[in-house]
Amino acid sequence: MSTSIDNLPEIDQNDWKTRDQKAIWHPFTPLTDSHKIVPLTGAKGCYLHRADGRKILDAIGSWWVNLHGHSNEYIAEKIAQQARTLEHVIFAGFTHEPAVTLAERLLDILPDTISKIFYSDNGSTATEVGMKMAFQYWHNQGIQKRRIIAFEGAYHGDTFGAMSVGERNTFTTPFHPFLFEVEFIPFPENPKTYTTDLIEHTHVQEEIVHQFEALAESGEVAAFIYEPLIQGSAGMRMCSPEILNQLLGIAKQYQILCIADEVMTGFGRTGKLFASDHCEIKPDIICLSKGLTGGTLPLGVTACTDEVQRPYHTKDLLKTFFHGHSFTANPLSCVAANASLDLLLSVSCQEAIIRIEQSHTSFAKHIASHPAILDIRQTGIVLALEIRTNAKTSYFNEVRNSLYDYFLEHDILLRPMGNVIYLMTPYIITDEELQVLYQEIENLLNKMVENE
Ligand SMILES: *Cc1c(COP(=O)(O)O)cnc(C)c1O
Repeated sequence: MSTSIDNLPEIDQNDWKTRDQKAIWHPFTPLTDSHKIVPLTGAKGCYLHRADGRKILDAIGSWWVNLHGHSNEYIAEKIAQQARTLEHVIFAGFTHEPAVTLAERLLDILPDTISKIFYSDNGSTATEVGMKMAFQYWHNQGIQKRRIIAFEGAYHGDTFGAMSVGERNTFTTPFHPFLFEVEFIPFPENPKTYTTDLIEHTHVQEEIVHQFEALAESGEVAAFIYEPLIQGSAGMRMCSPEILNQLLGIAKQYQILCIADEVMTGFGRTGKLFASDHCEIKPDIICLSKGLTGGTLPLGVTACTDEVQRPYHTKDLLKTFFHGHSFTANPLSCVAANASLDLLLSVSCQEAIIRIEQSHTSFAKHIASHPAILDIRQTGIVLALEIRTNAKTSYFNEVRNSLYDYFLEHDILLRPMGNVIYLMTPYIITDEELQVLYQEIENLLNKMVENE
């Protein structure tokens, strides 16, 4: 069936869903659930516009990507101009102003030790590139270092390398035979609200440091890859800059390349521009994506130090870094990222980040002792609530009443991970909109207790 562009049929919600179901395979969506897909006609600011006229308040920045609101006029205008100027070019052998300007601007705000920008096109490729860069760093020098350390519970993306260094779970089971070996150590998570035994906790953290040190001493570790301060997909688990700094210190001592996966934590999420800004010891490689373009277009960056690039500076052509993607440094994505940086670095946006952070802290204090809460944790503008789901009621065990569905029925986009609800809103969210989110969360918690 073909439709002429002047003759588009009026969009009927149900018809649209049926057509979607017939033609599309959605990510992270069981095929039996595809009827639950919600058709959208647009989005503006913090709201997604449903085809049925309802508006959904986006509390998770779309998929942890959106910084300045949906369909942002300023970014849209820059993309439109660039689309008429230079929309794409092969980045092996050519360059363009948006890519150069963006690289310089990123180097201005990234830790001082970082001095080179390698482009790709998404978060998984950014981490994949980071690991390949690190492995080849040793290979080019003829040094055999083949082990890599990662945290249990990690998520670094869905490609094979990224999956290898991620938590092995039910999502990755079919691929386990194909993943490479990784040294996993426990994530040195902060004590939880319901953990009273601080001595025990300190002991566990010491254990992790010892385990890391023992691996480092083997002299065979090429790299350490980690999500700094917040393990996103693990359920917004958080650790302190102090413990991370301690591990980075050991890594440096044993010449282990440190790869900070800041795909989620970058661009203000932790209250500073990058999570690595909270630590004294800086990584050798930093991976960026998601918020890089303000959440508008796909783009990945793997930034590194001069030292990481050193073994590639040789007349031996076989020591070239042979990695690239068709859409590496796409000019449209680069202008979107430059526009997003204009907005992010503005005084009003920096003030908004502080305002959201303070607002979350007050709500956390207010709600912390609620009987339905197991743990409440915050880093920057990321607020996570771990809720008690072992209540006698089966209210939230029924598929129909999953937490996701509950919030969607209340016109809020929240995508809980297990029993963890978290907020990661665009920075343009207003105080009133924040209060709506807090109130709906509190209502839910009350309901959970009532239903016990
Ligand atoms: C989302 C994410 C990735 C993967 O990024 P994609 O663009 O989805 O491939 C990698 N690392 C972290 C920490 C992430 O949150």
